[in-house]
Amino acid sequence: MTFAQLGLTEALLNAVAEQGYANPTPVQEQAIPLILAGRDLLAGAQTGTGKTASFTLPLLQRLAANYDPHQKPCLVRALILAPTRELAAQVYDSVVAYGKFLPLHVEAVVGGASIGMQTRQLKRGCDIVVATPGRLIDHIQQRNIRLSNVEILVLDEADRMLDMGFMPDVKQIMALLPKQRQCLLFSATVPNAIKTLAASVLNNPAEVAVAKANATADNISELVYGIPREYKRELLSYLVGSNNWRQVLVFVRTKHGADRLEKQLIEDGIRTAALHGDKTQGARNKALEYFKEGKVQVLVATDVAARGLDIDDLPHVVNFDLPQVPEDYIHRIGRTGRAGSSGAAISLVCPEEAWQLVEIEKLLKRQIPRIADTGYEPVSLKVMDAPKKNAPNKVTGKKDYRHSKKTTAKPATRPGKPTAGKPRKKSK
Ligand code: AMP
Repeated sequence: MTFAQLGLTEALLNAVAEQGYANPTPVQEQAIPLILAGRDLLAGAQTGTGKTASFTLPLLQRLAANYDPHQKPCLVRALILAPTRELAAQVYDSVVAYGKFLPLHVEAVVGGASIGMQTRQLKRGCDIVVATPGRLIDHIQQRNIRLSNVEILVLDEADRMLDMGFMPDVKQIMALLPKQRQCLLFSATVPNAIKTLAASVLNNPAEVAVAKANATADNISELVYGIPREYKRELLSYLVGSNNWRQVLVFVRTKHGADRLEKQLIEDGIRTAALHGDKTQGARNKALEYFKEGKVQVLVATDVAARGLDIDDLPHVVNFDLPQVPEDYIHRIGRTGRAGSSGAAISLVCPEEAWQLVEIEKLLKRQIPRIADTGYEPVSLKVMDAPKKNAPNKVTGKKDYRHSKKTTAKPATRPGKPTAGKPRKKSK
C-alpha cells in the first residue's frame, strides 16, 4: 500500500515524501481513508505507530479542500487536544511539517509559553489549534478563541487526559463545539472509561486498533532485575557506565525522585538531566534537546513529563520505579525499539514493588524475564499481597526482617547486598 493509494493529494504526498516515509503504517492505512470519508473514529494506537500522521494528514486534506483565505479572527476550524505540552509541541511540529505545501495556519496553545503571543495569533485567526486543555480554557475565558466553527476535533492520547484529570476540562471544551463536527479519539489503551467517553462524543464511529508494530519481544528485550531499593541507583550507574549506554530514558515515580536521581547520577560522573512538571518550559525543552543531541546520556523523567515524547531509536528505557498504573509500563517501553531498531527495557524492581510487577504481567499476559546476573544477590519478587493504602508493606521475598519476629533487627546479610563491594558481572 502506498500513500497515494490512500487518496491523499499531491501537496500531502510531497510533504510525506520529504519526511522520507516510504509506506503508510498500519494505523495510517486504516485511519486515513475513514477520516477522509468524514467518519468519526475511535483509534486504539500508541505513540510510535505513526498515529499523529494518521489523523494530521487527512485533517489537513479536509481543511484544505474548503480553504478560506479570510479566516475570521478568533475562529478555528480544527482543534487537536493533547495531554502535555511536549506532546502538543510534537503534534504541532507534525502539522507544520505535513502542511508545508498548504496555506493553512496552525497555532500551538500550550501552558508555559507566552499567552500574549498566542492571543495575537488567535485574534488573527487560524485554521488549526493544537492545545493542552488548561491553556485552551484560559483563552476561551478571555474570549481569545471561539470554537463554534470547529469542523474537526482530535482527542489525542485520551487515556492519558483521563489519567491526568483533564476530563472535566475536555467536556467543558466539547460543550462549546458545534453538534455537527467530526471527532477523532486516539488512545493507547481503551479502558471502559474511554469507551464511555467515546459513546458520548463520537457519532457512529469507525474503530481502528493497532498494536505498535515494533513493540514485540522481537526487537525490545525486556528484563527485570530484582534489587533492593537502596541499591537501585548503584546498579543503574553500573549498567550505564559498564555498558557505555549513550541514551537512556529513566522513569521515576515522583518529581522529587527525578531531581534526586539526577543529582546522584551526576555525582557518579554520568551526564544526566531531569524532566518533570515543576521544571520551566525552557528547562524542559533544553533537557530534551540535550538528550536528543547526545549532550546528556541519561534523561530522568516522570511519566507525565515523558508522555508522548518522540525520541527516535531510543536504545534503552529503564524503569527505576515501576509505574503506578500498569498501562504506563506499555507507554514507557514504547519509547524504545522504534522504527525497527532494537531496544532494551529494563525494570529495577524491589520487593516492595513486586505486586506492581504482577499487575503489569497480568496486563501483558506474559512474564517478563528476570535476570540474576547483576553482581547482586538477587532478591525474590514473590508477592504476598498488594499493600493497602498507607499500610506497611506486606511483600517479601525470603524469610527477611520484614516478616521476622524481631521486626526491628535487620538480618546480618541483607537480601540483595552486593556480593563483592561493587557490582560486578559474574564470570561465565
Ligand atoms: P507517532 O506514532 O505519531 O508518535 O509517530 C512515531 C514516529 O514515526 C515519528 O517519528 C514519525 O515521524 C514516524 N512516522 C510516522 N509515519 C511514518 C511512516 N509512514 N513511515 C516511517 N515513519 C513514520
